Amino acid sequence: MTEGTAELPRAVQKLQALIRFPTVSHRELDRIDVAAFDGFVEELARQFPLLHERLELTRVHTHGLLFHWRGASSDRPVVLMAHLDVVPVEGTWQHDAFSGAVVDGQIWGRGTLDDKGCLVAVCEAVETLLERDFTPAQDVWLSFGCDEEVFGEAGVQAVDELRGQGVRPWFVVDEGGAVAHDAFTGVGKPVAVIGVTEKGIMSVHLRVEGRGGHASTPARNGPTARLARAITRLDRSPMPTSLPAPTVELFRRLAPHAPFAVRPLMANAARLGPALAKVLTALGPESAAMVRTTFAVTTLQGSPALNVIAQTATAGVNIRIMLGDTSDTVLAHLRKVISDDQVQIDVVEAYEPSPLSPYSTAGHEDEAFALLEETISEVFPDAVPAPYVMMAATDSRSFCEISDRVYRFAPFRMTKAQREAIHSYDEHLGVDDFLDGVRWYQRLIERLPS
Ligand SMILES: [Zn+2]
Repeated sequence: MTEGTAELPRAVQKLQALIRFPTVSHRELDRIDVAAFDGFVEELARQFPLLHERLELTRVHTHGLLFHWRGASSDRPVVLMAHLDVVPVEGTWQHDAFSGAVVDGQIWGRGTLDDKGCLVAVCEAVETLLERDFTPAQDVWLSFGCDEEVFGEAGVQAVDELRGQGVRPWFVVDEGGAVAHDAFTGVGKPVAVIGVTEKGIMSVHLRVEGRGGHASTPARNGPTARLARAITRLDRSPMPTSLPAPTVELFRRLAPHAPFAVRPLMANAARLGPALAKVLTALGPESAAMVRTTFAVTTLQGSPALNVIAQTATAGVNIRIMLGDTSDTVLAHLRKVISDDQVQIDVVEAYEPSPLSPYSTAGHEDEAFALLEETISEVFPDAVPAPYVMMAATDSRSFCEISDRVYRFAPFRMTKAQREAIHSYDEHLGVDDFLDGVRWYQRLIERLPS
C-alpha cells in the first residue's frame, strides 16, 4: 500500500523530498546535473530552518556543507558525516528510484541507505534538539560531502578547513557499518558493526608491449599470451591471509550468540587466528575478503580488430589492501608472482588502509567507542555492537589525518537484501528504522560528555 505523505512523520517527509533530487555523481564533470545539487542544498535549508539559522555554514568545494554547532566546550569536538551525492540508477526498480515513495512501511529510493538517510537523520536530530534550545556539551560539526561516490575533493577540503581552524575531532562518525541483520550464519542477533578501519584501494595496469603485426603470422608468447599468463599467475597466488585484531574482537563478541559448535573457535580467534583465516578463505569470496588483500582483474584490452595482433595488451587490476599490507608490499607481491620483466606494472591510484581507530576490548575501554556502544544498546537493545574492518571506502578516510577516532556506522537496521541494494537496485529503508536512526543521532549528541 502506498501511503499518503500527510500521515507520515515529518522526518520521513523531509527524506522523501530530498530523495527526489537526482544528485548523481559522475567523474566527468559535464555529466553532473548541477541544478539537482543546487536544488538539494536549497531544499535542505527549507526543511531544516533552525539548523541553518543557528549553525555556522561553510560551503566546501561545489556543494559540500560544513556546519558548526557551538557546544558548551570545544575541547572534544565531534564530527558527524554523510554525503548528499548518490550513484547512478541501475537495474529495474519496484518503485521509481527518485520517487521517495513510502510503500508498506518502506521508504524507496536511491540514497535512502547511501547516504541521504544518514544525512537527513543527522539534520532531524539537530533540528529537534534546537527546537528545545539544547546546547551540546561539545562542539558538533556536520560535514556533508557532495562527491563521495567518485572519490572526490569535498571530504579532503572539509578536512583542510577544520585543520585550518585548529579543530582536532575527538571522534568522527561516518556511514559504513549498520545494524546488520542476518550477517553471520547461525548468529541469531543483529550485529551493530562499527568500522574502525577500512581497507586500502589500489588500481594498477599490467601492460605488455610487442611487435604487433598481421594475424596470419603470429609469433609465440606475444603480448596477449604474456598478459594472460600474468593474470593466471596472479589468480593462483593470492596474498597471505591474516586475522586482523578488530575481526578477532568481532568474533569474541559474537561467540556467545553463535551456534554451540563454533563458539570455542570464535571465542579463541586470537590464538586460532591463522587456522581461522584459512577456514574463512574457504567459505567464499565475502569471508575471504575479510582476511586478505584481494585482486580483481577488471578491464582487458588487446587489439581493436579481429585480424590485427595487439602491440599492447593491458589489464586493469583493482586491489583492496588489507590492514597490515601496504601498496609497497602489494607491488612486491605482484612482481614476485608475475615474475616476468616484460609485464609492466603501472600504479594508477593507491590509498593505504586507514589507521586503526581505538575500540573497547575485554580488558580495556575506550571512552568514545563505549559511548557509541551504549547509545547503540539504548536504541537497538537486541543488537550486539562490535568493531569490524570495512571493505569499502568512504570520505572519512581523509579525517584520519586530523582525528585518531574515525568510526563508520549508519544507525539503521538493514537486512541482507537491503545491504545488497546499496549501489544496486531497489534501495529502501524502513520508516521505523529511519526514525530509530534519528533517535540514535539525537541520543549520541545528548550524551556527549562535558
Ligand atoms: Zn556512501
